[in-house]
Amino acid sequence: MSGPANVRKDYYEILGVGRDASQEEIKKAYRRLVRQYHPDANPGNKEAEEKFKLINEAYEVLSDPQKKAQYDQFGFVGDMPPQGGEGAWDFGNFGDLFGDLFGDFFGGFGSRRSANMPQRGMDLEMPLTVTLREAAYGATKVVYIPKWEKCATCGGSGAAPGSSPERCPVCGGKGQVESRSRSPFGEFVTVRTCQRCGGSGYVINNPCKDCGGRGRTRVRHKVEVKVPPGVDSGTRLRIRGEGDEGQNGGPPGDLYLVIEVEEDPVFKRRGDDLHVTVDVPFPVAALGGKVTVPTLDGQEEVEISPGTQSGTVKRLKGLGMPRQRGSGRGDLVAHINVAVPRNLTDKQKALIEALALEMNVPVKSSGLLEKIRGLFA
Ligand SMILES: [Zn+2]
Ligand SMILES: [Zn+2]
Repeated sequence: MSGPANVRKDYYEILGVGRDASQEEIKKAYRRLVRQYHPDANPGNKEAEEKFKLINEAYEVLSDPQKKAQYDQFGFVGDMPPQGGEGAWDFGNFGDLFGDLFGDFFGGFGSRRSANMPQRGMDLEMPLTVTLREAAYGATKVVYIPKWEKCATCGGSGAAPGSSPERCPVCGGKGQVESRSRSPFGEFVTVRTCQRCGGSGYVINNPCKDCGGRGRTRVRHKVEVKVPPGVDSGTRLRIRGEGDEGQNGGPPGDLYLVIEVEEDPVFKRRGDDLHVTVDVPFPVAALGGKVTVPTLDGQEEVEISPGTQSGTVKRLKGLGMPRQRGSGRGDLVAHINVAVPRNLTDKQKALIEALALEMNVPVKSSGLLEKIRGLFA
């Protein structure tokens, strides 16, 4: 969703500005590109949408002195380089982004808004394991989400309370340093990112103890989640507003919970149906009777007709999982297994031998039949 894994994105190139661009130039380029690639202006154009995502991503980093500094220095922003798949760089869910940002952005263009643009917080994605019963009936689960939140101690500046980020003494706030060298062809000027401030132009001499100067802290946030009936492994639940906090007054991102339904020891799920294996004692299978079939709610008695064979299937209507499409529930499918008796008593062995004799089936003789012949006298 967020492009090839582990490819470093050149945010400067995306915004079409030089590495020495000022915040004003970055902002200008961003506004121009956003107008050009905004999906409202390019309905159905996937390429424009991708481009628009990248533009926002690039701007989020380059407009933030701290992020920009980190990006300039390390080529990525955050604790780790961006991973493939849907990690922290997933900018999915555009419907919301537009809804939330459009008014903010475009209403403010060219007028009063000149500070940093509001940015929607990142979406988060986490697995959530539920039992088969919870998947069937729904459940309320408590999840703890690791979230970035603005550091309460320093208010997000990264500087310890009572101090503030200061202009970098090495580059004087430009973020770059020049070095001159002479050669037979003349004087060369090399411009490098300032090592001291990482290109941000700011230094934090007295970093906030709680966030280590980052301005944000990881917190564990408790959220109660209603899991609706009928979810399956891979179902994505969206919890609005529980993603990372927005920047500059932007709305928070969303939380996506990816359902993982645990293996059940009794039931196997296939689509909307549940399957269960039921042992039927040999005499019941031969002569008919009833067996108890476990269900999600308890148990059901099921009629077994005389001469029932292993592999016979009994369908219990409406005792499966809630249908994912349509209403009602699937079936519970009971697979009959005729249970051959083990650990027989002497008397039982003799009786089966007698049955074998009666059925003309040769069996290994235990000699017991002779002994208890009296039983049948
Ligand atoms: Zn702090
Ligand atoms: Zn500097």
